[in-house]
Amino acid sequence: MNSPLVYLNGEYLPLDQAKISVLDRGFIFGDGIYEVIPAYAGKALRFEHHMQRLQRSLDAVRITNPLSNRQWQEIIDKLIATTGPQDQSVYLHITRGVAQRDHSFPHNAKHTVFAMSNILQTVDPELLKTGITAITLDDIRWQYCNIKSISLLPNILLRQQAVDKDAAEAILIRDDKVTEGAASNVFIVSGGVIKTPPKDHKILPGITRDLIVELAKKHGMPIEETSISEQEFFKADEIWLTSSTKEVLPVTQINEQPVADGKPGIIWQSMYQKYQNFKKSLHN
Ligand code: PMP
Repeated sequence: MNSPLVYLNGEYLPLDQAKISVLDRGFIFGDGIYEVIPAYAGKALRFEHHMQRLQRSLDAVRITNPLSNRQWQEIIDKLIATTGPQDQSVYLHITRGVAQRDHSFPHNAKHTVFAMSNILQTVDPELLKTGITAITLDDIRWQYCNIKSISLLPNILLRQQAVDKDAAEAILIRDDKVTEGAASNVFIVSGGVIKTPPKDHKILPGITRDLIVELAKKHGMPIEETSISEQEFFKADEIWLTSSTKEVLPVTQINEQPVADGKPGIIWQSMYQKYQNFKKSLHN
């Protein structure tokens, strides 16, 4: 199989030829920012929203954006085109660059800029019928969860604890309130109202989360961006998880207990359909 083309510091290379220095601060410190953008029928979904989040994350860690939106768009279009006609997940990664190991910012380092696009692993249709399982864990992460940092060790450890228990995701609780999943945002349905935690430093502002909120408002479905107590969470009629690659998935079992009747809920079904229709509408 040919090695897929990736972008590294201005060049397009086969993946197996893309190399970086061991002194890269991304490698040494996890000092960098990333983005993941889904692409359907050759087009990045919500490109502008992803660019805005990328800019906010870079600003928060004081890395200047090495490229204009137009340059990012060119790279993304080229990677999508060379990867093929399938739906894809585009990955962008910027680090503070290569420098002698020292915690403080280097003076003259040049960013490392890496991008690749992979074929999107579509969600198993069976999961849409059965839903997925999740566990709850203490949110042990730092106070800047709104930054899409490449330092993902806490998220990795949390997700692995879920996997070790045959669950698909860890849903995190901080100070008796639900925050988000290890790699997803959380929604519940309670008394006919869709609820999701507000955007603050405790969660990543998911692009899919925002789209779900927008779709709910557009279609007159009651929705609140409000904190969700642990107690309310465990009594929820429905629990959903959202992310760019998983879209919107129903959680039907939490900590080995069924969520309501243990089947994907009707409000989730309605939202899932609206999400699919939204995607289709972009290509008509
Ligand atoms: N929260 C976390 C911690 C994430 O890593 C992700 C992305 N995988 C999300 C939420 C969802 O964000 P998005 O909808 O932009 O993919």
